[in-house]
Amino acid sequence: MRYYSTRKQSDPVSFARAALAGLAPDGGLFVPETIPEYSGAVKTSLGTMAFHEVAMETIRPYVQDDIPVPVLGGIIESAYPFTAPLIAVGDRMVLELFHGPTAAFKDFGARFMARAFAYLRRGEDRPLRILVATSGDTGGAVADGFFGVEGIDVTILYPRGRVSPLQERQIAGLGGNISAAAVEGSFDDCQALVKAAFADRGLRERHELSSANSINVSRLIPQAVYYAAAAGTAFDGRVHPDGEATPRKGPSAVPGTNGPVRGHPVRFCVPSGNFGNLTAGLYAMEMGAPIAGFIAATNINKTVPEYLESGIYNAMPSKATISNAMDVGAPSNFERMASHWSYDEMKRRIRGAFVSDEATRETIRDVRGKAAYFLDPHGAVGWQAADTLLAGGIVPQGPLAILGTAHPAKFSEVVEPLTGPVPVPPSLREAMDRTIHSSVIPNDLAALKALLG
Ligand SMILES: *Cc1c(COP(=O)(O)O)cnc(C)c1O
Repeated sequence: MRYYSTRKQSDPVSFARAALAGLAPDGGLFVPETIPEYSGAVKTSLGTMAFHEVAMETIRPYVQDDIPVPVLGGIIESAYPFTAPLIAVGDRMVLELFHGPTAAFKDFGARFMARAFAYLRRGEDRPLRILVATSGDTGGAVADGFFGVEGIDVTILYPRGRVSPLQERQIAGLGGNISAAAVEGSFDDCQALVKAAFADRGLRERHELSSANSINVSRLIPQAVYYAAAAGTAFDGRVHPDGEATPRKGPSAVPGTNGPVRGHPVRFCVPSGNFGNLTAGLYAMEMGAPIAGFIAATNINKTVPEYLESGIYNAMPSKATISNAMDVGAPSNFERMASHWSYDEMKRRIRGAFVSDEATRETIRDVRGKAAYFLDPHGAVGWQAADTLLAGGIVPQGPLAILGTAHPAKFSEVVEPLTGPVPVPPSLREAMDRTIHSSVIPNDLAALKALLG
């Protein structure tokens, strides 16, 4: 498999080059030259295969020129000691993506990426310097994924005061090969700083730079796995008995009107910010997983829902919300989506809706009351966006799964006043005890260069 730049001004490269470089030399994002298709046998058994097998079948065609199958098998096994249960909640399904060590879906991409990098860099003497901008959850997942990986140093930029206390400890509490800087600015500023650093010739000469944002194709591809596995389960008319870490009781155990139906493709509702997660879902659908389509759910940072409505793409400065991992006004993966699919093709696959903070809070309270389930603010945006589109008849009734992108205990400041105490999983309890080590820097490249040396 070769990878092209979305801007078509650089030569196609291997998976290894695309992953280690992050951005293409022309400033574009790498995309695979084709999206491979599952074999007929795999398509019909997605629902019964083990999660690691689905991962192998999904990731292999993208990486096999650079990562031999036995090595890939080892990476998958070590990256995913957890899975993604699809459970029934109220009248629909929730795909719980928060059973990894940082309790957010980004563990799926970051843990694969870190292990792939360690393999692809074997035998190199110059350390790789990874630069990441985070609005919250990316930083924690990348820190966890790369912590202790030899030959790789990581610098994480996050917007000062705009991540939760727990997120800050996950980003800046590990130390070792992971350093963190709180930038006086927004997430978009952090992202712009990373781009500027990549464009800086001096820095590139002093450091072997790479990115680990959701623009990195090695983070994107493994995210297609849970869509395929869950779509297979729903297509078999099943859900998983329970999500281990989420306490649920009573009415939510029986799937309602938007539960799974044997032989019917599922629609996924994806709480979105940079749109890496949704792009990965589109890949899974293109590969042949039984998926009816997607809902792009955002908070008031509604660039993509507006585009889907009007055909006009109008990036905006980001606004702070209670679903802060989605506070993105200029989603970086949009360029990748647009390189694969025209406006009409996107409209056939995706419907968009945005949700205010007030409606998000109401949804958290409501779903706790009616379905005995704790939603986090991002999942609640998804839940409410789906309600809006179902009520308007814009999305038909049928199997529907909301992506639970983070554990509600990660956002207890928002959730607990609405629901009462949220039980905390052990990995988060451990992270809360860490001490923060980070530098505060102004929003300019000179400051970042001084920090990196
Ligand atoms: C990162 C994140 C999102 C947004 O995902 P994108 O791939 O950037 O669209 C949504 N919810 C949570 C909890 C996140 O951490």
